[in-house]
Formats: sequence, C-alpha cells, structure tokens
Amino acid sequence: MSLPITPIERLAWRQTPTFIKWDDRLSAGAGCSKWRLLDVVLPLMAEAGADTLVCLASAGSSLVAASAYACHQAAYSCHALVRRQVASAGARQAMNLGMTYGCHYHAAPDGVSLRSSSPWVLRFVDDLRAQGARPFLLPFGGTHPLAPRAYIAAGLELASQVRQLEPKPKRVYVAAATGRLALGLAFGLALAKSPLQVVAVGVSADTPASAEAFETLLDEAFAAWTGDAPAVTAVLERLHVVNSSTSAAYGEASDAAQHASALFVQHHNVALDQTYAGRAFAALLADPEPALFWCSGGTWQTPFTRPERDFADFLLPAMAEPALSASGGQIENHVLVC
Ligand SMILES: *Cc1c(COP(=O)(O)O)cnc(C)c1O
Repeated sequence: MSLPITPIERLAWRQTPTFIKWDDRLSAGAGCSKWRLLDVVLPLMAEAGADTLVCLASAGSSLVAASAYACHQAAYSCHALVRRQVASAGARQAMNLGMTYGCHYHAAPDGVSLRSSSPWVLRFVDDLRAQGARPFLLPFGGTHPLAPRAYIAAGLELASQVRQLEPKPKRVYVAAATGRLALGLAFGLALAKSPLQVVAVGVSADTPASAEAFETLLDEAFAAWTGDAPAVTAVLERLHVVNSSTSAAYGEASDAAQHASALFVQHHNVALDQTYAGRAFAALLADPEPALFWCSGGTWQTPFTRPERDFADFLLPAMAEPALSASGGQIENHVLVC
C-alpha cells in the first residue's frame, strides 16, 4: 500500500477562511484516517506470515470497514469481533462496506471484554488456528504498538501542506475517540515545529478530557517513534480538548452535528456522519479565526441510497441477541449464515 497525500481545499462558502483536509479520500473503497493505521499494520501482518486479520471494535467501526477493504485487496480473510452500538447512518454505512468486502462480523455477548487478552477473544483466535488459519490479532481500535507512527506521519504531512496555505489556519479540528489521531497530529506538528494547534473534539466519554490526559498516549507515541522526537511539552501545548458530546452518546446525532452535516450536503453533496466528522466540523464553526477541518472519514455521497441488500439490517437486530455471527448472508432463524 502506498498512501496518497490527501488534498487540502479552501471552503469557498465560508467567509472566515476555512480549509478542509479530505482525509476520507485515502482510499476509494473505505476512505478514512484509519486507513493510515492499516498502512503500518498490514506489512507487519505479512511479515508474521498471517492470512487472517481479526479486528476488535464497535459494530459500526470505520476501522473494520477499512480493514475489510484492505483484506479484500490483499486476499486475506477478515473477522471482526464487535460490540453493539447505536445504529447511526454512519455505523450502517461502515457495516455495509465491511460486509460487502467480505468481513465476517461476530457480536460479542454483552459484558464480554474485547481486549486482546479476553478469554472469549483468545478462544476465537484458537478456533481459527484449529481450522488451519494463521490469524493476526489487531487490538481494539487498531492500537498496535507501532500504529502511532501512522498518525505522526499524518501530522508531518499536514505541517508541510499548511506551509503553502494563505491565510494560515491557526487550529486543526479533528474528531477524537481515543485521542490517538489528535495526539499523532500534535506530535507530527511539534516535530515539524509548525505553529498549528490541534483541537481534539471529543466524541465519546472515553476521550481524554484534557491535554494532560493524553500523556499515556504520548508514551505510546514515543515508544513507536524511532526518529528525532519533539519535547513532551511541545506536543501537549499544541493539544486542546473540546467536549462536544455532552448531550449525545457515542454515535448519537447532536443538533450541532446535524447542522454541520447539512451544510456539507448543501455545498459538497457529501454528508458528514454524526459520530465523528459532523461533531468535529460543528466545533470548528464556533471558531472566529482561520481554521482547518481534518475530515477523518464518516462521509458519504448524497443522496444516501440504501444498498439493495442492507447488511446492517441483518446485523443490527442480531446484535440484540448474544453470540450471533454475521457474514453478509441471509438470516435464518436469527442466525446469520454465509
Ligand atoms: C477512528 C476515527 C477517528 C479518531 O479516533 P481516535 O480513536 O481518536 O484516534 C476520527 N474520525 C473517524 C471517522 C474515525 O473513524
């Protein structure tokens, strides 16, 4: 895989100078910033001689959609062990993509941990091995120890593009779930000595609530990065946190995100999802100074046409029942079969 440099464009329809980095254009099949993680992880999988990727994620994760696409391209099998989530349009779209590209979804029973060391997860991996597969387990949210390199490289890419922009954006707004993407950007920007600040827009209760709360992630980043490193303070002082989602749960639409999404439909014929991109852009709208929106994914062309077979319709009801599996097939007695 070699990654394209995703374009930055000025939004002609906003008076306040506003730029967008279309990072959802990283790949045609399942574009989102997580594609960058796969660029780091898939070569490791090949090195390990594996042929089956096992992801741990929320049901509507864009990492699963992107993984499914990448595995499809590389002729690997792909399994996703998932926990239930709100059936938003974005989640629906991600699941449909995942299943279209042949990912096998398995719903974790309620209360079961999706950590890499969870007995349920380990049993699943052992079963795959017993069937002759060579599985590679990607920890929840793609948190492979070397994965931070992907987002640091993204920060370096951003720093070099911003040098060309006029007027200079002061802040980049990016959706933050675990905060790894936001932290990687701040790390890369600090490394490049860019004055651009990072606003991490929290999308879930798990998002670090302050710059200091990013310190654990910072340790991960330092551990993964072998080149010159910035000072800890240079990274942390670039990071600012906005918590957008106090009223809406993870994946639930907030009024502000709906408004932000509607603006994109009007001007770009692209809808922003309510979980990530919509919330990040909604936060940017309150900034009176030049700013840049990191469009991390969760976008789709409008009108959003439901595929003829909406796989999410199979998976979502099934998720209400514990331990059912789905793999893009038809539903038989509430069990999904290939
Ligand atoms: C995963 C993801 C992010 C960032 O998530 P972090 O866990 O904070 O790294 C942002 N936007 C989209 C669309 C994502 O899928």
